[in-house]
Amino acid sequence: MRFDILTLFPEMFSGPFDSSIIKRGKDKQLIDIEIFNIRDWAAGRHQVTDDAPYGGGAGMVMKPEPLVDCIESVKSRHPASAVVMTSPRGRHLTHRTAMELAGRCGLIIVCGRYEGIDERVRSLCIDDDISLGDFVLSGGEIAAMAIVDAVTRLVPGVLGSGESAATDSFCDGLLEYPHYTRPPEYRSLPVPDELLSGNHELIRTWRRRESLRTTRRLRPDLLLTIDLSQEDRKLLAELEQADAAGNL
Ligand code: SAH
Repeated sequence: MRFDILTLFPEMFSGPFDSSIIKRGKDKQLIDIEIFNIRDWAAGRHQVTDDAPYGGGAGMVMKPEPLVDCIESVKSRHPASAVVMTSPRGRHLTHRTAMELAGRCGLIIVCGRYEGIDERVRSLCIDDDISLGDFVLSGGEIAAMAIVDAVTRLVPGVLGSGESAATDSFCDGLLEYPHYTRPPEYRSLPVPDELLSGNHELIRTWRRRESLRTTRRLRPDLLLTIDLSQEDRKLLAELEQADAAGNL
């Protein structure tokens, strides 16, 4: 899977892309990341990439010419890649979106700055808009890092066998169960007995129940969108009973 990132601030990527999982993905040649400075496509001695907005108002707008030239140049080298714009107006980056993006051959991710980009860039070049959420970042770079990270985890072989993405939150539509490690008691808080029991079936049921409990408490909307098994329904009924008993 390849990622081409188009930005005015290439130096922002050196830390996050040179450590941990992303570094490992690169080292194993399962992902390939190239960073392009949009300014290299800007004309003139001053290599200007922004200009005042038509209609007036505060801030600057990214000019279309350098950005379109940059996108076209990268796209001509990797024609099968999808061009993704980071933008607060886009589809939210969810597990489902990440899986969809992981299914593409490659992503060309465009990082906006200032007030945003000239709308004609979108009309001419952009396949998809992705947002990190309903808030405004100063630029698309952090969003691009989040996209690369979330998608890279899903590329087969990047995670070691001990760190399967399959049990992560959202994979089966639920939030993940809580984790514990040694010591067995910390500041008077014990690890649940089930996890210390060595009984695999007991542990599996405990994890499923806690996954359902966490989801029910924090994201009940998710429970409406998944197919619950018979066991899930039974565990949920028990949780409801326990709640009702506690409320008496
Ligand atoms: N004026 C714009 C915000 C521009 S912020 C507006 O009100 O919609 C500058 C750049 O930061 C954007 O072009 C985009 O690339 C990036 N950005 C800002 N918020 C983002 C978000 N929630 N998700 C992804 N990218 C975002």
